[in-house]
Amino acid sequence: MSATEQTAVMPFGTLQPPRRYLFGPGPSMVHPRVYEALSKPIVGHLDPYFIQVMGDIQQFLKTAFGTQDGATLVISGTGSAGMEAAVANFVEPGTKFAIFANGYFSDRLTEMAKRHGANVVRFEKAWGETYTDDEAKEFIRREKPKVVGYVHAETSTGALQSGRTICDAAHEVGALVIGDCVTSLGGVPVEFDRTGIDIAYSCTQKGLSCPPGLSPMAMSQRAMEFLRARTIPSRSWYLDLKLIHDYSTVSHRYHHTAPISMFYALREALSVIAEEGIENRWERHRRCNKLFVKGVEGMGLSMHVPAEHRIATLNTVCVPAGVDEAKIRKHLLDGPGIEIAGGFGPLAGKVFRIGLMGPLATEDNVQFFLQEFNKALRAQGHSI
Ligand SMILES: *Cc1c(COP(=O)(O)O)cnc(C)c1O
Repeated sequence: MSATEQTAVMPFGTLQPPRRYLFGPGPSMVHPRVYEALSKPIVGHLDPYFIQVMGDIQQFLKTAFGTQDGATLVISGTGSAGMEAAVANFVEPGTKFAIFANGYFSDRLTEMAKRHGANVVRFEKAWGETYTDDEAKEFIRREKPKVVGYVHAETSTGALQSGRTICDAAHEVGALVIGDCVTSLGGVPVEFDRTGIDIAYSCTQKGLSCPPGLSPMAMSQRAMEFLRARTIPSRSWYLDLKLIHDYSTVSHRYHHTAPISMFYALREALSVIAEEGIENRWERHRRCNKLFVKGVEGMGLSMHVPAEHRIATLNTVCVPAGVDEAKIRKHLLDGPGIEIAGGFGPLAGKVFRIGLMGPLATEDNVQFFLQEFNKALRAQGHSI
């Protein structure tokens, strides 16, 4: 290979990623202070400064999750690593695991549970639907599982599932509850203690305005007792929550090399959230969601999920008849540089998935988005 050919394949110089408006389901826009945090000098993963950073994150997470005596920690991996940690530590071969299955991420939870040897029972519903209190109680009382799993904010459908009754019914039969809070944390209230969740996991790149890479978790006292009482260790060494909890909050003995820069980023993102106030942040997202829905309905479009079950930060808008949603997405990306997502699985071609998270959740940004969305629809021949 000649030198010129090599240059053609391997260009030198710094990265120049395009500037995008991330109006999709995640990753979402990163706060400028978080970008700055990523460029700070790293210290060792056992350095007292880093131990302090981990401690700060655990404190901030308590507020974000809404827990007082729950344990909080961070898994080095994206949201799916948190999901797998939940499964690998609370499901043993033969464990009966009841799953509320109404979207893509409950299917992923099912798949992981099966791989860990669980006996999975599923309550299936169409994508976008939610469970009533009576349905939740009836399912759990009938199945009497050891572990229950549900997705709080189902990113594939835009539906928000309240967990209170699920948790009450599960505790009645002595089961632990795993709640997927990947999309909800930082954007809409999780209320870990009040809901009664035992194990919650999330990610950094959706409601927390941070790049992808970490999975914050919370565990109830009940969950911690289960871990302490476990005699056969989890089949996953890397995701062993006993070991990670010991490293991050108790002995600070080496388990794995924590990704220092990402912890800085998360620390800063949580600090930005604390400065705004988590309740104010939820309220801002709620306000922008109302404005957004009013806007799209004003354009003659309809929402996939009924008003009372919508996730404020992730909107599923029905694709109007005769419109090719992929072309709209391409138009938005090629023109104003806006990223949104389409539906998949049973919702492929049927919905747009539009996120309004963190820095994008302002009145101005909603108006900007609606204008561009309107233009894109008209360019595709849809009359409004
Ligand atoms: C994004 C998401 C996940 C997976 O998280 P990754 O960070 O992509 O690994 C799990 N559950 C829900 C509800 C999600 O939205």
